[in-house]
Parts: sequence; C-alpha cells; structure tokens
Amino acid sequence: MNNSLYDVIIVGAGPSGTSCAYNIKRLKPDAKILLIDKATFPRYKPCGGGVSPEVANYLDFPLESAINYKCNNVVMVANGKEIESNQHELWMVRREVFDNYLLEKAKSTGVEFIANCEVKDIINQNDDSTLVIAENQQFSGKVIVLAEGGRGKLAKRLGIAPENTILAAMEYEHYSNEDLNGKLYIDFDYNDSGYAWNFPKAEGLSLGIGGLIKGKEKGKVTLPKKLSTYVAKFGVEQFDKANLHGHPIELYKKKHKLVSGRIVLIGEIAGCVDPLTAEGIRPAIKSGYLAAKRISEVISANNISLLKKYTQDFHLNIGKDLGRAKIMSFFLNRYMHQILPMITTEKAINGFMDVFSGKSSYIEKISFRRIVKLCLRSLRSPS
Ligand SMILES: Cc1cc2nc3c(=O)[nH]c(=O)nc-3n(C[C@H](O)[C@H](O)[C@H](O)COP(=O)(O)OP(=O)(O)OC[C@H]3O[C@@H](n4cnc5c(N)ncnc54)[C@H](O)[C@@H]3O)c2cc1C
Repeated sequence: MNNSLYDVIIVGAGPSGTSCAYNIKRLKPDAKILLIDKATFPRYKPCGGGVSPEVANYLDFPLESAINYKCNNVVMVANGKEIESNQHELWMVRREVFDNYLLEKAKSTGVEFIANCEVKDIINQNDDSTLVIAENQQFSGKVIVLAEGGRGKLAKRLGIAPENTILAAMEYEHYSNEDLNGKLYIDFDYNDSGYAWNFPKAEGLSLGIGGLIKGKEKGKVTLPKKLSTYVAKFGVEQFDKANLHGHPIELYKKKHKLVSGRIVLIGEIAGCVDPLTAEGIRPAIKSGYLAAKRISEVISANNISLLKKYTQDFHLNIGKDLGRAKIMSFFLNRYMHQILPMITTEKAINGFMDVFSGKSSYIEKISFRRIVKLCLRSLRSPS
C-alpha cells in the first residue's frame, strides 16, 4: 500500500495527461505528482497521427525527434474531384513514439509514473484529499486529474462525464519501404457521414475511415468494408488484421462542467475532440496545459475552490471554437452532398488548414452568416 499524499494524481498518460503533468512541474517544480496508466509504455493507440504544429505552444521542449514525417501537401476529395493545397505544414506522428516521448519528458521533471496499473475507483476520503483505488494499491491526492481518454470508464461511472457525440472510426497501419507519394488525403466519397483519410508516414501510411452511425447503417458494421475499398485505391490489396483497429471517438457536443470537487477532466474524456475533423491531440495537449495552470494556482494558494475556474478556461480557449465547428458539422452531416461542392475549393482547404495549424480559429473562419448562406444554397440545390 502506498499511503503518501500527492498534490496531484493524474489517471492516463496520453497527450493530455503528460502535458498536464509536465506543465504543473514547469510551474511548480516542488509539486508531488503521480501519473498512472493501465498500459505499459510505449503503447499503441489507434490514431491517424496528424498533429497540428500549434502543440509547440503548450510544450516548451523540442518535438522534432517525436515527429515521424512532415507533410506539406493536403488533398481534399469530394465527388471524384481532387483539390490540392501546399501552403501549410502538418506533423505526422506514430503514437507509440510521440506519447512515449511526452511521457519521458514529464518523468524527467520528477513526475512519478506507474505503468500497468488500472485505476478502479475514486472516492472522497476527507476534506483535504481523495482516494484513488487501483488493483492492490491506493493513493491519496489533493487534486485528481482524469485524462483517461474516450474509452475511460471512471468519469462515466462517477456521473461527471460530459455527454459527447460518439463517432465510429477504424484505422489501418500500412507499413511499406516503397516511396509513397507523401500526400495527405481527406476523402468524402467513401462515407455519407464522415470521411476516409490517408496520412503519410516515413515508413508507410495510416489509412482510416470515420463517421456517425445513422439511418440505415445503424446496427450494421459497414466501416471495415468501406475501408477495404478505400485502401485498395492506394494499392493495399489485403488487410493484415493485426494492423486494423476499430475505436470510438468522443466528439465535443456542448459546454459542460469539467470540475467536480477535487476531480478535473481533461483530454478526450472532457469532450475536446473537434466535431468536424475528429482532431483530438492538439486540444488534449491544450486542455492539459490549461488545467496545469489552474492546478498550480490551487497548490500555491492551497485553495481547491480555484480549480472550478478551469471549466470556463476550457470553454473560452477550446469549447467555444469547437461549438462553432459543431454547428458546421451538424449541417455538413445533414446536407453533405449539397454543401461539399461548395467547400471543396483551394480557398476552403487553406482556410481549414489555417485553423488546424493554429493561425486562425473556426469562429474567425465560419461566421453565422456564412453557415446560413451555405444552408440556404444547399436547400436550393438538388440533393
Ligand atoms: C482511429 C482514430 C484516429 C484518430 N486520428 C487522429 C489524428 O489524426 N489526429 C488527432 O489529433 N487526433 C486523432 N484521433 C483522436 C486522438 O487519438 C484522441 O483524441 C487523443 O488520443 C486523446 O488524448 P487523451 O490524452 O485524452 O487520451 P488517450 O490518448 O486515449 O490516453 C488515455 C490513457 O489513459 C489510460 N487509461 C484509461 N483508463 C485508465 C484507468 N482506469 N487507469 C489507468 N489508466 C487508464 C489509457 O491506457 C491511455 O493510455 C483519432 C482517434 C481515433 C480513434
């Protein structure tokens, strides 16, 4: 039994958890922090691995060695038409490398890490601390951060998880020594309520498909079939089943309380995945950074009530913008065939890439006037 009291216990060592741990230590080097994960690291995580270079704003160390490939060519495909843009740089990572690198950085600041340890429950102990219960072990913490990802069960069991929108996704890692063309593809011709992707890596491709399960498709498993048709386009004739992974993604839905007593939610479990693109790494790292700032204030002032302010920090810096993306995604899902031809232009891709690279925001790019205009035009055009 480990009975020592930690300032902060973080459950989950994905990008949100490690960003939070690292940034608390940067701000409060004396803080006693425990990071726990049920996996053994390095661990695989189903993911396209597309990362916005904006993450460098929230981590003050070089990320170069964790980046697998830098991509400058983005191709958007809709109704058989390809539109290409090469004005922005995107980072491609392998999650087993990237996440492990962030973890090592957090550990190097003095964060204690326990792997292979699943947290089973969290209960209020007394006025000053909360108990984190794992198999054969328990720990006390003044602040508990849940960074358990979209599949996490703790926040849901405690009744404090936001109600997110669930997207079904499937990813295939194709390893190859061939010189592949190095372009990033987003393709709307393979799914009625989402898109297929091909993200280039230094030694292969990460191919996938994601979408909301709706209408006639409810209850049917259609993604593997659609993905197998899509991968064939890139010369991948057969799946190696070991490299095929299905995974739900929790998309942002609406503003929600993210602090409950001493517990704070960050990353995907806080609902910070972009509802339009399913981008989750940058907002996860950013939410960890925002939570770290509030937690360090809590530690300095020894005042837990300051933690509550994180919900508003999240809303102002992440949620508000994702809310605008949510409106756009609602109309896109409803009128996909009518809206797509209007937004598959080089100007639209560049606008979108401005948002992805952190140079702009959805609120700047998608005004309500623009959404109304798109909808009116889509209603007038034949479906
Ligand atoms: C198929 C697919 C493709 C994607 N592609 C992209 C992409 O290209 N770009 C992008 O930005 N985002 C992408 N995403 C989304 C992105 O992967 C996630 O949003 C992101 O990983 C969330 O980070 P996180 O830190 O919140 O959680 P995670 O990275 O999921 O980490 C959570 C950690 O918590 C641990 N854990 C969970 N429960 C417990 C417990 N009870 N006890 C101890 N440990 C626990 C887990 O082992 C895990 O290591 C994709 C997602 C999917 C499914």
